[in-house]
Amino acid sequence: LTRLYGPLTALASARVDIMSALVSFERVFEILDLEPLIQDAPDATEVPPGPVTVEFDDVRFGYPAADKVSLASLEDVATLDTRGGEEVLHGISLRAEPGQMIALVGSSGAGKSTIAQLLSRLYDVDSGAVRLNGADVRQLTGRSIQTTVGLVTQDGHLFHDTIGANLRLARPAATEEEIWDALRRARLGDLIGSLPDGLDTVVGERGYRLSGGERQRLTIARLLLEQPRVVVLDEATAALDSTSEAAVQEAVAEALTGRTALVIAHRLSTIRNADQILVVESGQIVERGTHTDLLAREGRYAELYHTQFADQGDTVAA
Ligand code: ADP
Ligand code: MG
Repeated sequence: LTRLYGPLTALASARVDIMSALVSFERVFEILDLEPLIQDAPDATEVPPGPVTVEFDDVRFGYPAADKVSLASLEDVATLDTRGGEEVLHGISLRAEPGQMIALVGSSGAGKSTIAQLLSRLYDVDSGAVRLNGADVRQLTGRSIQTTVGLVTQDGHLFHDTIGANLRLARPAATEEEIWDALRRARLGDLIGSLPDGLDTVVGERGYRLSGGERQRLTIARLLLEQPRVVVLDEATAALDSTSEAAVQEAVAEALTGRTALVIAHRLSTIRNADQILVVESGQIVERGTHTDLLAREGRYAELYHTQFADQGDTVAA
């Protein structure tokens, strides 16, 4: 299982849209013997130990042109040219100190998810650099990046396998007790406890159908088990049902505590708690600062705040 983790995770995160549109999950297992999309440098090292500083240094990036055409088969994904599309990030610089949370806000299509993907090295930059504790991600092993950076996407991607196996991807040595503890904290203990097969219930395409909110809670349980040093979270907009939302937010907050985090934020409470807010528009950071600073500036953030976030104001302590 450990050996499969790298390519599986990279594929699942980067190509999920292509995969869900064009292929069934069995195909994923057929291609496991293919080379990963991005290969380790021959002298690749591990992410330096200790709490992690995340740094983007004047990053420019365009998606490979082939990503825009529909692919005939998943094998084509592995042979894509990894450079050369139209540039979507035009010189992004940011720095998160250990334990800091950065919130990315901005219009749809601005480049927020792309920044998140580059941090996990799902693609390579065209110029500039992404660094973890000072080390360029191109000089690090994919395996080390994956165990350091926990990426939680909105769709809560799961493999067609048992709930237990999906969770053990995060930590193969996890005990049954640790798994149940993570499930309870993500408010899934009752649901999964009530299934006849419990942790052995098969989920995914043809398995037990979890709702969008339940899938995302399962990925939060995965995060709680994994305890990565860096968390990248594409915050849910509507997937979570309101009854469990407060409880799930608590679990998310717990997963972020003490970790360096990059959150694509849709919730005012997250944004207010952030150490820095970066406003991303058209592939550039147009404003940065705290909630109070940026409101006072009466610029793009203030505009976003009034159109998107202010209506959440009543539910959040000032
Ligand atoms: P955001 O997360 O802020 O909504 P994205 O990072 O998803 O923005 O998208 C930034 C730009 O990159 C958009 O123009 C989008 O169309 C483009 N883009 C996103 N994903 C891909 C992809 N896989 N291939 C080609 N272009 C993409
Ligand atoms: Mg996005």
